[in-house]
Amino acid sequence: MTYTYKCNKCNNEFIIEKGMNEEAIIKCECGNTDVKRIYSVPNFKINCSGFCGKINK
Ligand SMILES: [Zn+2]
Repeated sequence: MTYTYKCNKCNNEFIIEKGMNEEAIIKCECGNTDVKRIYSVPNFKINCSGFCGKINK
């Protein structure tokens, strides 16, 4: 699963890939662990053919 998180400290948005049952500590580049999950994206990226890049940018 791919999750998008937002740092509550520096407002940086970043993507984390982890398993559904995986208890990973989410950490921003700035070292802050106080982050919130914005939304989750299913594994549809695998089927993308050059289109997803435009969405992400
Ligand atoms: Zn941060």
